Amino acid sequence: MSSTTDVGLSDAGPPQGARAPSGLEPAAHKLLGQLGTGDRGEASREPRPAGGSAVHEVTSVGVSVLLAEPRGFCAGVDRAIEIVERALDKFGAPIYVRHEIVHNTYVVNDLKAKGAIFIEDLEEVPPGATLIFSAHGVSRAVQLEAAARGFQVFDATCPLVTKVHVEVAKLHKEGFEFIMIGHKGHPEVEGTMGQLEGGIHLVEDVADVARVRPAQTEKLAVVTQTTLSVDDAAQIAAAIKARFPNVREPKQQDICYATQNRQDAVKLMSAQVDLVIVVGSPTSSNSNRLAELSRKLGTPSHMVDNADELQPQWFEGAQRVGLTAGASAPEILVNQVLERIKALGAVSVRKMDGIEETVKFPLPKGLKPRLPSPGR
Ligand code: SF4
Repeated sequence: MSSTTDVGLSDAGPPQGARAPSGLEPAAHKLLGQLGTGDRGEASREPRPAGGSAVHEVTSVGVSVLLAEPRGFCAGVDRAIEIVERALDKFGAPIYVRHEIVHNTYVVNDLKAKGAIFIEDLEEVPPGATLIFSAHGVSRAVQLEAAARGFQVFDATCPLVTKVHVEVAKLHKEGFEFIMIGHKGHPEVEGTMGQLEGGIHLVEDVADVARVRPAQTEKLAVVTQTTLSVDDAAQIAAAIKARFPNVREPKQQDICYATQNRQDAVKLMSAQVDLVIVVGSPTSSNSNRLAELSRKLGTPSHMVDNADELQPQWFEGAQRVGLTAGASAPEILVNQVLERIKALGAVSVRKMDGIEETVKFPLPKGLKPRLPSPGR
């Protein structure tokens, strides 16, 4: 293990402002007792500092944390949040956002506090208001309704989702029908399927492929949700190809770079740890896929929306804990979860070597920062 950072006694407490769940400290204390035979030897007991928490008594229980790289925010999420924040700055509250801008409770609550109002139905938006479409994208029907109602619209759809929409529209003009691999009811799937009035057949798994009834099989194309399990999607795509050998597959997979990179990191990480914690909200597709992937690879995994959701019993017997975050989970939550794991007994933190993501998407016109005047 390289570049290890020891976590000292003073680091072991919860972060400022983080709430400690009731009952966690006694449970953590029990856990620390159970973890007393870690790779740094017996748990050492030090005098309890006056007023200190019981968990601070034990400082070396041998649990190490491996931080996934990359993890957390992707370029599409960064851009979507920035669009809402810039719109709030420029036009003032309230700013209406159709659907959660990204699937993360913390992000949504933070933007609500700043003046964003999240709605599902455009009828809830008053005339003349500013409306933002979420990163997941919207159907043509929603785009047309927003235009008809005369809202000032900013589109925070991730450009990688828009790319799929553009491809669907282009191939539709050439007479193609589509098989979409995705999760029924997910807003991205609704948005992509809603680019056409019909002719897109959704499959969620290999079994669904046998049930697809296209009107013709000469011009069939596959599209996928961007945040799927790379391996599951490949299996389903292979089943589609086996049933429809002439099917047109995307030149480049629709699954986005961020989903791919985070899954690749979990594949590497899960082989090195006893437990994987994923920071992400229950509605986040790509976060769910990370926890699911770890379990498939034989390493237990739990997803948490925040540090309070960590259960001390998950760590029983675990000497090495992996920590990652879905593409919509902010780093502040990762830090809070890390602090909580430290409070539960972790003594070292190591960052994985991983891909450095440099992708950046431009903001829509009207929300771009002004260029400085020449000579200033
Ligand atoms: S997860 Fe992928 S598709 Fe979704 S916002 Fe991020 S980059 Fe875009």
